[in-house]
Amino acid sequence: MIYADNAATTKMSDAAIQVMTDCMKETYGNPSSLYSIGQKAKEVLEEAREDVAKVIGAEFPREIIFTSGGSEADNQALRTAAEIGKKNGKMHIISTAFEHHAILHTLKRLEKEGFEVTLLDVHENGLVTPEEVAAAIREDTCLVTIMFANNEIGTIQPIREIGAVCREKKVLFHTDAVQAVGHIPVNVKEDNIDMLSASAHKFHGPKGTGFLYIKKGIPVTNLIEGGAQERGRRAGTENVPGIAATAAALKDAVENLERNSSLTKAKRDRLIAGLKEIPHSAINGDEVTRLPGNVNFCFEGIEGESLLLLLDDKGIQASSGSACTSGSLDPSHVLLAIGRVHDVAHGSLRLTINEETSDEDIEYIIKSVKEVVEYLRSFSPIWRDLVAGKKEFIL
Ligand SMILES: *Cc1c(COP(=O)(O)O)cnc(C)c1O
Repeated sequence: MIYADNAATTKMSDAAIQVMTDCMKETYGNPSSLYSIGQKAKEVLEEAREDVAKVIGAEFPREIIFTSGGSEADNQALRTAAEIGKKNGKMHIISTAFEHHAILHTLKRLEKEGFEVTLLDVHENGLVTPEEVAAAIREDTCLVTIMFANNEIGTIQPIREIGAVCREKKVLFHTDAVQAVGHIPVNVKEDNIDMLSASAHKFHGPKGTGFLYIKKGIPVTNLIEGGAQERGRRAGTENVPGIAATAAALKDAVENLERNSSLTKAKRDRLIAGLKEIPHSAINGDEVTRLPGNVNFCFEGIEGESLLLLLDDKGIQASSGSACTSGSLDPSHVLLAIGRVHDVAHGSLRLTINEETSDEDIEYIIKSVKEVVEYLRSFSPIWRDLVAGKKEFIL
């Protein structure tokens, strides 16, 4: 089996599994309890917070709020900015058309509450420019939220420059960095970030844990009422084993980031070169400014879903669009945002590899995708029309 869907989720690292099971067996106390096993759990929790803060370049550990994952962190960041905006009479938010649904759906909700949302165009290459962000900022803008790296096409935004624009114009800046943290260098201070979301299961940590970085001084809106955990900013007994494993996975990922990313990039580029040989195909998103492990293609005249099923038969686990949208007939909002027409967007394939993907795996994927695309085209009515000249090729 070749697992090539690391953008959907990753396998937990051995280090994270070890820390998690040790914690479950030995430090099972409630961090709010005053006796020793509770206090030990509290120590594990605060150590994890310090580690996470350090790794992402936060100034203070208390700037980290542990959450149930990326979606919750995104929701809390947007709610926080919206509450501040409401208080100051600033009801305008800037984002992009190709954000994760955790952002887009929260923005939809905020629109119903009276906010105005500007979604910036991401261009054909899957990138926004700091100049466009600057031009969209108004007197009443309370937040700019732009993802660090896209989960489908892997393009990496000029976050540091966008952050600088927001600082200059005194607008809060949030980034959904779920695909970036642990994969490419991220530093909240150097990158001018006020709020950042991350999720452990995207960097070889456990599912159901993540964190939100909120710069000191920003009044946090709490989504979950209850006890005073996380300084009253996120109630509920802390997921200590998950949090400890999150910190372990993140440290491991960041310590090995350079080595892993250069190994992965070399394999990614070979995979891209191999898939480019397929006629009437095109890569989605900028070829260079993309995550080390992301390969995303469109093949004209086929359906992504059939492609996935046939690749699965060959032992290759991949994705077409995002996990949240597959199963629906609508093409990916990300591919539409970069200007792919419906027919073309339907024939997409996302392969997200990592340093463990072998060179043989890469060659096998190339060979298999070539075979499957050719096979599907052999009985595709759209392909027949294209070849007969009844329809024009787009790619
Ligand atoms: C996976 C993902 C999320 C959601 O994270 P969960 O921990 O699964 O809730 C949010 N944003 C991006 C970009 C993602 O890739």
